[in-house]
Amino acid sequence: MTPETTKHRFTVEELQQADDWSEGYCLACRAPRDCCEPDAQAYECDECGAPAVYGPHWIAIAGLFAEGEA
Ligand SMILES: [Zn+2]
Repeated sequence: MTPETTKHRFTVEELQQADDWSEGYCLACRAPRDCCEPDAQAYECDECGAPAVYGPHWIAIAGLFAEGEA
C-alpha cells in the first residue's frame, strides 16, 4: 500500500498532529504509528504488520485529504 494506491483520506488536522507528534499513518489500515519522521516511508505497521506507514509529508504531497473536513 502506497500513497498512490490507498483509499484512506486524512484531515489537515490529523496531518498537523502527526507532524507535531512525530507520527505516521498506516495507509493499509489507517492506524497511527509513533516515532515516524515526517518523511517516513513504508515503515511496518504495529497494528496490521503491513509495510505501509508513511509520514505526513508524503500524505500531504499525495493530496490524500478528506473532503469537507477541517
Ligand atoms: Zn496497518
